[in-house]
Amino acid sequence: MKLHTHDEGAPCRNMENLLQGVADGSVRGVKKAYALWHASQCHHCGNFLIRLRLTLDALRSSRERETSAESMERLKSKIRELSPH
Ligand SMILES: [Zn+2]
Repeated sequence: MKLHTHDEGAPCRNMENLLQGVADGSVRGVKKAYALWHASQCHHCGNFLIRLRLTLDALRSSRERETSAESMERLKSKIRELSPH
């Protein structure tokens, strides 16, 4: 196997889309297994996958926080409507 000459942390060019698909759940089955195997062997792709997952997790949890804050507001206004004045 040839040594990677990318910048620090850059994944293999032909793996980037596949790894993104794995991280967001759109790539499954054999392709996913292949990408994960490659990421476990390749330092650059492994780091890239970890960063992708962290980013997606952060996005997802911030979205959840927003959603729950919104639903709390809605719940509070419902309670205000229901409670006698
Ligand atoms: Zn790689």
